[in-house]
Amino acid sequence: MTTENMEKSINPIENISNVSFGKKEYNGSSKITIDFEAQLEKEIMKSLPTEALITSAKFEGTNIALYTRNPEFSLTELSLHLSALSKSLKKRFIIRTDPSIRLSEDDTRAEITKILPKEITVSVIFCDDATGEVVLEVNKPEAITSDIFLKISKNTGWITHTRRSPHIPSNSIKNIHSTLKSSSKERQIFYQRLGKRIFRPSLLPNNLLQHDDHQNTENNHQHELVMPDSAENVRSYNNSVPFNYRYNNLREVILYCLGGVKQVGRSCFVVVTPESKIMLDCGINPGENQSYNAYPRIDWFNFNLEELDAVVISHAHIDHQGFLPTLYKFGYNGPVYCTEPTLPLMALLQMDSIKLSKSNGAYLPYEIRDVNESIKHCIPIPYGKPTDISPDITITLNNAGHIMGSATVHINIAGTHNILYTGDYKYAKTQLLDSAISNYPRVETVITESTYGSSGDIMPDQYSVYGTFTESINQTLKQGGKVLIPVPAVGRAQEIMLVLDKEMREGRLIESPIFIEGMISEASAIHMSYAHYLGYDVRKSVFQGINPFQSSYFTAINGLSKRDEVFNDDSPSIIMATSGMLEGGPSVEYFKDISPKPQNKIIFVSYQINGTLGRRVLDGTISEASMVDKNGKMKVIPVRCSKQKIDGFSGHSDFNQILSFISRVKPKRVLVNHGEKSKSENIASSIYSKLKIRSSVPDNRDIIKLR
Ligand SMILES: [Zn+2]
Repeated sequence: MTTENMEKSINPIENISNVSFGKKEYNGSSKITIDFEAQLEKEIMKSLPTEALITSAKFEGTNIALYTRNPEFSLTELSLHLSALSKSLKKRFIIRTDPSIRLSEDDTRAEITKILPKEITVSVIFCDDATGEVVLEVNKPEAITSDIFLKISKNTGWITHTRRSPHIPSNSIKNIHSTLKSSSKERQIFYQRLGKRIFRPSLLPNNLLQHDDHQNTENNHQHELVMPDSAENVRSYNNSVPFNYRYNNLREVILYCLGGVKQVGRSCFVVVTPESKIMLDCGINPGENQSYNAYPRIDWFNFNLEELDAVVISHAHIDHQGFLPTLYKFGYNGPVYCTEPTLPLMALLQMDSIKLSKSNGAYLPYEIRDVNESIKHCIPIPYGKPTDISPDITITLNNAGHIMGSATVHINIAGTHNILYTGDYKYAKTQLLDSAISNYPRVETVITESTYGSSGDIMPDQYSVYGTFTESINQTLKQGGKVLIPVPAVGRAQEIMLVLDKEMREGRLIESPIFIEGMISEASAIHMSYAHYLGYDVRKSVFQGINPFQSSYFTAINGLSKRDEVFNDDSPSIIMATSGMLEGGPSVEYFKDISPKPQNKIIFVSYQINGTLGRRVLDGTISEASMVDKNGKMKVIPVRCSKQKIDGFSGHSDFNQILSFISRVKPKRVLVNHGEKSKSENIASSIYSKLKIRSSVPDNRDIIKLR
């Protein structure tokens, strides 16, 4: 069947005038989508080989799911046939097993244990009833061959995915499994209703969306949607100029800035097209207490959360996702897309925020059940896989080199406009990660971060950074002091662990105990589970059986009594604790102990947001801090220890790296966000003067027409 035939037979454009603009319900999909799906299923079923034993073809999440009673054939020979079909339909397929062939969970476990070779040990087997997938956590995922994968699906009726067993079991992953388990029915319904929504027929016929030219400025004032009466009319209008004027206006791409411009914190944009509304990041500003300044301005953007097609999260840091559970609390019930490791890392940080707010009495706009809602609605996608998330938007996540699982988001809007939203990125290799991906065939608009956008923000090379770091620690250890390194639990912590271990092992750093607070260990366990997301060098050593987070120099601190032991011991040591900006968490407890003694030192290795205690200590604007002690009494803590900021560890691109990234991507336009005002303005004018690319710094609550 040709594409043209397929379009004719399944395109329900005749009914398109029944759809009202901007009204896209998650609940109770319209009749039009059901007809569309039923017709499509009929066409697909007809074209598939009978040996595949496909029992149904359904819109499900971002794919068309084919349910099979013959997984062995469907996962191998059928896939060739599907790649051609996928091209002609412009839709992606996923193979699921028909529930009737799936063994019970107990029998599946027993069968899998029988099939796996002896050298493979399994720590977790998780069967997801909503998808028919079984996740195996094993010591050597690379030892599971495609034959083993096929045998498992043939004998059990479950399709296998693997992860690496971490050195300590991860509680975050365990919690995610139990949330997924208890919501499998609910999620099954969600995936189906999401599929219907994503594959709803376009309001605008594709041939018009891709028809690029014929701009006419005189008629640009027309904004109303005028629908053709029938498919015939669409065809006859296709080359007529007046009709194109109308549709030109409808191909607009508008960007709403809800947070994170001219500031670091609360990153949030909404991209609006004629068909869709997509939110990019949904962060909070950790340095702010007033909700007006702390959260994205969804109060200002006059839209209903139900109208949002998707939320895409670039990475797990709280300034990019800390407001996400609140969206669910306020009624959003659509999908959230992010990479696989971002989900557990994000959940870990959200749960930690809840714990912190309970212990220090600070207001947090969400609770555990809202975190669980975001877990249930999360659709993890791997790097490099184009994924349709609405009728006119396909996103691709790629390595951003910032923290594990961090992604730049490439947004293709009906083939007419491409946005690259960088999130936070590092355009250079680090100990932990490879450099951000920068080869894109076509990008019209880049939205870039500018944390280090000032011309003076040039990072020294890696080896001189390690040298300065080691020397600084040695100096304090030699004078009998303790070194506190406040670190964000996710990202910098693991990078610093690798560096400390390397420097100590190779004899440059004086041997001393390195204490690691609990949450960092948990984040490191997640790093091991998804080791295939790490940089080439770490990946290689993990594959050789070396766990970089399990060095004998490290001592994990779990619980208050262990922490007291560190306080009471006067011998020199290194302490790594969260949070990275001394805003709550154990680093603040260590700060109380370390700050008053001049022989001690605090070394900052990550960006300190304005207004945080970390920033004030670093800038020397405070000589003492009032804090609540263990007994709940206010106590004045003098700041007498020395302090140092070492920049080269940052997971952000420096001034030169931002410029070379932009010159590699070659967009037509750059918008600058995620930076202090002067830094954003500086990089914007440098991009214009050096690269001759139109560049600007919007404001929060600006609306920008990208197309
Ligand atoms: Zn970040």
